[in-house]
Amino acid sequence: MAISQTLFGGGVHPKEVGNGKLTTQALNIVDLTPPARVTIPMSMHAGAPATVCVEVGQVVNLGQMIGEAKGVISAPVHASVSGTVTAIGKCILPSGRESDAVTIENDFEDRWDESVAASAHPGEVTAEQIIEAARTKGIVCLGGAAFPTAFKLDTSKLDPKPDVLVIDGSECEPYLTSDHRIMIECADRIADGIMLALKATGCQKAYVGIEDNKPDAVEILKRAANGRFEVVALPARYPQGFEKMLIYSLTGRKVPNGALPAAAGCVVVNVGTCEALSRAVREGRPLIDRVVTVAGFVNKPGNFRIRIGATALDLEDAAEGFSGEITKIIVGGGMMGNAIPNINLPVTKNFGGLVVLGPEGHVPEESACIRCGRCVRACPMKLMPTRIDAYARHRDWAGAVEAGAKNCMECGCCTYVCPAKRQLTQSIRMAKALARIKKL
Ligand code: SF4
Ligand code: SF4
Repeated sequence: MAISQTLFGGGVHPKEVGNGKLTTQALNIVDLTPPARVTIPMSMHAGAPATVCVEVGQVVNLGQMIGEAKGVISAPVHASVSGTVTAIGKCILPSGRESDAVTIENDFEDRWDESVAASAHPGEVTAEQIIEAARTKGIVCLGGAAFPTAFKLDTSKLDPKPDVLVIDGSECEPYLTSDHRIMIECADRIADGIMLALKATGCQKAYVGIEDNKPDAVEILKRAANGRFEVVALPARYPQGFEKMLIYSLTGRKVPNGALPAAAGCVVVNVGTCEALSRAVREGRPLIDRVVTVAGFVNKPGNFRIRIGATALDLEDAAEGFSGEITKIIVGGGMMGNAIPNINLPVTKNFGGLVVLGPEGHVPEESACIRCGRCVRACPMKLMPTRIDAYARHRDWAGAVEAGAKNCMECGCCTYVCPAKRQLTQSIRMAKALARIKKL
């Protein structure tokens, strides 16, 4: 199959204040000292929350399961420090939702649990063993959606089976460079994870898509691939990393609206997830930490490997505090992330970045639509955002659905380009939520 590299229509080049990605992309990942206390949420993946399986007062080891997966789509949760469980209660997630959570007082021994053991037969691992490792070690997609990886890798019930594995190394969100650094520093592990994912899914080919603003990552991964999979430099344009866009850019295939990548014969996995998968299979290591970019108005931006359940405050400390007058703190990327009301929220498995904004974070006043059509040209889903927005403002949820609201990926491109500063994405998001509640 020929690689198309066709660029999807629409999209934007988001502006970054200061040097944006340039500030952190050349800085090595810094391993942070684990905090004195972690509060680990049970709901930090797509699907059913995990159920707490430890008690207050119990001594736990690093990597011990503290939350059991429940349901077909779910993921277990593991202790990210060794120590004593001091509380089982609720916490607020960066998304604003509430979750059950386990608080552990760190004993600073980093005593690994006996369940964390290297594979006895690293060369002979089967597809079932790879999927089982992803399932039991709580591996989820680290690119944002936190979809359980075992569910993606298990293609046994799909008919027809996917034949192409698509690896997302695009990192198209402004400011974020954590995937870039993982590709530079952990290329061999990523390559191993890709080969494991190929075996688990039964796909015949794997393509890694990386935006062409990361030529060093393209070169290093090409060397690590050694002809076993293809590494493709794609034009840098947000939202290149979205599944539908990436599949189209790499294979020329289109995922039908409302369908999963399997409908186009593809499985999509992020580069960071491949690294975590390799460690789960080879070392028996659960997902107890992740790399987070801290950027924007901070004194010392960087990429930090931090334990799950530490707080955004620990990241602020690592970046030596905020600088200047800040207006907004965003978890995730500048385009898709959530603004958070306080810094004392837990680092979750899908905590991709901490972006601190200055004056540019002010929400501008909306004015009337001037019918310029920029939002329509920017929409990668070929929707008419201004039309869906008009229905939403009239609380006509059925009209919004009719105009395609459910196909909106909430990428934010329409809001970004609108000269009237209309909050189109927010309005469409509300229409989608209301349509879901009303079962439209
Ligand atoms: S937020 Fe939705 S409507 Fe707006 S550009 Fe993205 S996909 Fe299109
Ligand atoms: S970009 Fe803004 S002003 Fe232009 S058509 Fe869309 S909503 Fe109206």
